[in-house]
Amino acid sequence: LTGYVGFANLPNQWHRKSVRKGFSFNVMVVGESGLGKSTLVNTLFNTSLYPPKERKQPSLDFSPKTVGIQSISADIEENGVRLRLTVVDTPGFGDFVNNDDSWRPIIENIEQRFDTYLDAENKVNRMNIIDNRIHACVYFIEPTGHALKPLDVEVMRRLHTKVNLIPVIAKSDTLTDDEISAFKHRILADIQFHNIQIFEGPRYEMDDEETIAENNEIMSKVPFAVVGSNTEVQTPEGRKVRGRRYPWGVIEVDNEEHCDFAKLRQMLIRTHMEELKEHTNNFLYENYRSDKLTSMGV
Ligand code: GDP
Ligand code: MG
Repeated sequence: LTGYVGFANLPNQWHRKSVRKGFSFNVMVVGESGLGKSTLVNTLFNTSLYPPKERKQPSLDFSPKTVGIQSISADIEENGVRLRLTVVDTPGFGDFVNNDDSWRPIIENIEQRFDTYLDAENKVNRMNIIDNRIHACVYFIEPTGHALKPLDVEVMRRLHTKVNLIPVIAKSDTLTDDEISAFKHRILADIQFHNIQIFEGPRYEMDDEETIAENNEIMSKVPFAVVGSNTEVQTPEGRKVRGRRYPWGVIEVDNEEHCDFAKLRQMLIRTHMEELKEHTNNFLYENYRSDKLTSMGV
């Protein structure tokens, strides 16, 4: 169920490169305050990164309000492959009456990372550049069940040219299955209507049919309906799981029948990591770079 991450199974050529250098993967979480971003980051780091026996004790399900942009990294190694996973947690925007600029520090942080990479590329010694660029941006949508809010549209439109946007429905345990399904359709329609580009995964693949089927299955869950929790609860059958308890039962974080958390994690850390990194480098960063050079008159 939890256990290893699975990145050692990445395609061969990439695998060999990674074995030599080690590699980094950087995920950012963005969204309004109180939607469970910090909780989900903890949920991600508490489970899949280590074999279960080394797992941290469940902490209290309490997270202080995030101030400033914070990153958490873990070096993980699997079958001789080293990976540095970093998750960048951002303070929620939307706390103020006037939210016009509340997202600005987030955009600046993303651009600074591009600038740092650009500087490194321009140095004489371009070997072993540390890649601190954001490869995936998980965008939290409030589980209203209605539609995207104007603030979401505005922020996503500012983000989508700079990062691979991965929308998620926050705290999806507060919606019924039918509500989630309807809300997913509505979100996708809104995203399309506002010309927001979200990460779509590879368009064609050289992979075998099984891999393609698995990838399509994952992408069909977008926007992922997620639930975060750092507490263990007991199911009616007596199993100990990470989840949230309700009078009518327990929502299990790691159970794919209950929410899409496992699918999101699988997509980020296993099936789509390479694609996310390549799209960041070949398209998002490249556009940023050429715009920058043009504006400098180079
Ligand atoms: P952030 O401001 O987006 O970082 O949100 P936090 O992670 O600090 O969580 C805010 C509150 O929501 C806390 O009381 C969490 O326990 C709670 N919370 C977090 N994730 C979930 C979830 O998936 N479902 C529910 N029902 N509550 C959650
Ligand atoms: Mg937070």
